[in-house]
Amino acid sequence: MSTINDFMEPYAELEQSVRSLMTELFSETCGMCTACCCRTDICEEATQSAFLYQLLQKQGLASKDMDDRFGWLNNQGCLLEYGKPPICYEYFCDQLLARLPGDNARFAARTLGKLMDYVGKDALGDWHLVEIRNPDDLQKVSVDDLFQRLEESQEAFAVIEQYMQSGRLSGADHEVLSAFAIDDD
Ligand code: SF4
Ligand code: SF4
Repeated sequence: MSTINDFMEPYAELEQSVRSLMTELFSETCGMCTACCCRTDICEEATQSAFLYQLLQKQGLASKDMDDRFGWLNNQGCLLEYGKPPICYEYFCDQLLARLPGDNARFAARTLGKLMDYVGKDALGDWHLVEIRNPDDLQKVSVDDLFQRLEESQEAFAVIEQYMQSGRLSGADHEVLSAFAIDDD
C-alpha cells in the first residue's frame, strides 16, 4: 500500500515540470515586472503546511531560510524548486494573459496554473492537502485518491505541453482540459 512518503517524489516531479513550462512561457514578462505578485504571507504557507514543509526539507531548506521581507524571493526569482503553495501557479495578471496569442493559449495556460491545486483537493475531508498542518494528519489522507488526481494532472500537463509545441488543441484535448473547469474570460 502506498504511503504519503511515496507520493512526495512524483508530486515534486510534476511540480517541477509545471514550473519549468511556466518559466519558459512567462519568465520574460514576469522578469521585467515591477509589480511582482509574490507575497510573504503566501511564502509562509510553505512553512505552515506539513506536506509542503517536508518538500522544503527535501531541498535542504527550513523556515529560518525564509527572508522576513522577501519570503522565498531573491533576485533570481523564487528559491523553491518545488513545494510552493499551489496558488503561486494560479495567478495570471491581465498583462500576462494579454500577451498570450489567443483564447486557446489563455485556456491552456490557466489550466496549467490549476494542476498543482487540483492534485491536493479534498485530501482529508474538505481540507486541501497543503492546508493540513499537523504532520500526523498526513498519514490519514487517502494516498490512492491523491495518486489518481496526480495522474489526471499529468495527463492534462502532457496535453498542454503538446499544445504549446504544436499550437493545435483538438476537441479531445479540450475535453481533457475542460475537466479542470477553467473558464477563459
Ligand atoms: S504575473 Fe503579472 S504581476 Fe505577477 S510577476 Fe508576472 S507580470 Fe508581474
Ligand atoms: S512563487 Fe515563491 S516567492 Fe512567490 S509567493 Fe510563491 S513561494 Fe513566495
